[in-house]
Amino acid sequence: MTVRVRVVILGCTGSIGRQALDVASRHADRIEVVGLAAHTSAEQVVEQAHAFNVQRIVLSDSDAAGRARDLGGDRLMVGSGPEAVAELAELPEAEVVLNALVGAAGLRATLTALAAGKTLALANKESLVAGGELVTALATESNLVPVDSEHSAIYQCLVGEERADVERIWLTASGGPFRGRSAADMANVTVEEALAHPTWNMGPKISIDSATLANKGLEVIEAHHLFGVDYDRIRVLVHPQSIVHSMVEFADASVKAHLGTTDMRIPIQYAFSRPRRWDAPVAALDFAQVARLDFGDPDVDAFPALSLAFAAGKAGGTMPAVMNAANEVAVAAFLSRRAGFADIPRTIESVMAAHDAEPLGSLEQVEAADTWARARAEEVLSSR
Ligand code: MG
Repeated sequence: MTVRVRVVILGCTGSIGRQALDVASRHADRIEVVGLAAHTSAEQVVEQAHAFNVQRIVLSDSDAAGRARDLGGDRLMVGSGPEAVAELAELPEAEVVLNALVGAAGLRATLTALAAGKTLALANKESLVAGGELVTALATESNLVPVDSEHSAIYQCLVGEERADVERIWLTASGGPFRGRSAADMANVTVEEALAHPTWNMGPKISIDSATLANKGLEVIEAHHLFGVDYDRIRVLVHPQSIVHSMVEFADASVKAHLGTTDMRIPIQYAFSRPRRWDAPVAALDFAQVARLDFGDPDVDAFPALSLAFAAGKAGGTMPAVMNAANEVAVAAFLSRRAGFADIPRTIESVMAAHDAEPLGSLEQVEAADTWARARAEEVLSSR
C-alpha cells in the first residue's frame, strides 16, 4: 500500500485550489486532503470538505465561518480569520501546504508553513514578490516547490543541474489578450476583453495581470528569488503558443526547455508527485499538430508594468511589496470598473515613485509597506 501525502490547500475555492482538488480526486490513492481554507465561499468549502472527507476548514471571513459552522455539522472543525489560515499552514499532520491564496495576504501562510518544516507548494507568487528575502531565508531547494507553470518548468529543467552553471533564464509569456497592440490601442479595453486569456484558464486577478504583463513582471521577481539568478540574467520572451513553459540556458550554451499542454493541473500535480511523475489529466502534445513555435521580445512601451516590475526587483527591499500592492489595488479598481486599463501601470509607477525602498527585515515591515502602498494607490486612483 502506498502512503498518501497529506496536503493542506489554502485558497481551495479559487482556480488553482479547485484544480488541485481535481488532481487529488484523480490520485486519491496518493493524496489525502487534511485541511482546506478559503475567504468567503462557505458553502463550497463545506461541500469540498464532505467530498474529500476533510475534518478541518478555515474561512478567513468571520461571517462565512459562521455559515460554515451551521452547514458543516458536528464533525467539521471550522476556523475563522487570517490567524486560523496561518494555523492551518502549520497543521501537524500536514506534509505539504499548497498556498493558492490570492495576493500579498498569502505571505504570512508562506512563512508559517516553511517555519513549521512543511513542503510549500507555492502558487501565491505575490508572497515571494513582497517578502522575497524573508521567504528565501527559510527555503531550500526541497521545501519550496513552485506551482506557477513557468517556475515549475524552470525547476524541472534544473533537476540534476548545478545552480552555479545557470547562465540565463528565459521566462516565456503568452503576451496576453492584447499582444501586438500599442498603448493607445489599449486605452479603452473592457474588463471582459482583458479577462479573455488566449491560452491559460486562470482566476480574474491573474488574468488581468497577464493582460498588463504585470504577471510576467511579478514572475521575474519570483524567479530571481526562487533560483537565485540576477535580474540581468532573466529574459522575458513572448511565445504566443504557450507550449514552451520556460527555458534554462547553461554556461556551455546548452538550453533546456520544458514543453507541454497548457493545463495548470500538470504543475500542481508535479509539486505533489516530484521527483516521480504520475498519469496526466490531459493528453500529451502531438508535435506534428503543434507545427510552429514563435518567439519575440516583449513590447515594453505598450506594457510598462513589465519594466516597472524589473525596476522594483532591482531596487529590492520593500519596493517589490509596494509595486505588488499598488498593482493589486489598481487591478481591483479596474475589475470593479472604477479605473481604466492604463490606470494600472500609471498607478504602480506613481506609487513606486513616492516610495524610498528599505532593506527587508520582518513580516511587519512588509505589511506596513503594503498598507502604505494601498492607501497611496487609492489616492492616486481617486485623484486622476
Ligand atoms: Mg505563470
